[in-house]
Amino acid sequence: MNLDLLNDDVAALLRSGDHRYTTGRRRVVSALHGSDGPVTILDILQLEASLAQSSVYRNLAILEEVGAVTRIVTHDDHARFELTEALTDHHHHHLICTTCGSVSDFELAPDTELTLNQAFAQVSRLTDFTVDSHRLDLLGTCVSCA
Ligand SMILES: [Zn+2]
Ligand SMILES: [Zn+2]
Ligand SMILES: [Zn+2]
Repeated sequence: MNLDLLNDDVAALLRSGDHRYTTGRRRVVSALHGSDGPVTILDILQLEASLAQSSVYRNLAILEEVGAVTRIVTHDDHARFELTEALTDHHHHHLICTTCGSVSDFELAPDTELTLNQAFAQVSRLTDFTVDSHRLDLLGTCVSCA
């Protein structure tokens, strides 16, 4: 994904929430854009050494609020963050290790996604709940912890 186009999209999301796209927020987005998979706040601080931890916390919360960042909750104290699928257009799922808290991305085959979406459409009819998207993460043990 092109960083300039991404910055335009993030700026628009922030504007709609009445927030400015500050240098600190740009650095956080740039760290998320440059990393391969979901990252912790510590990872972001390592990638962008000029940022203070308190400002990363605050900026991630605002980016999450406007729909630019997804927080992935794990079993350890360190949530992982990534750009939302609305921005990346990359629909995927997560493998969450319940021992070390590591998170990695994986994709399902298109026909599996179709089957899931059909099942969720049925849930939608039965519950009168309008389904927009789904999140599906697998919990287990990663190869380093096995
Ligand atoms: Zn693990
Ligand atoms: Zn992901
Ligand atoms: Zn899916």
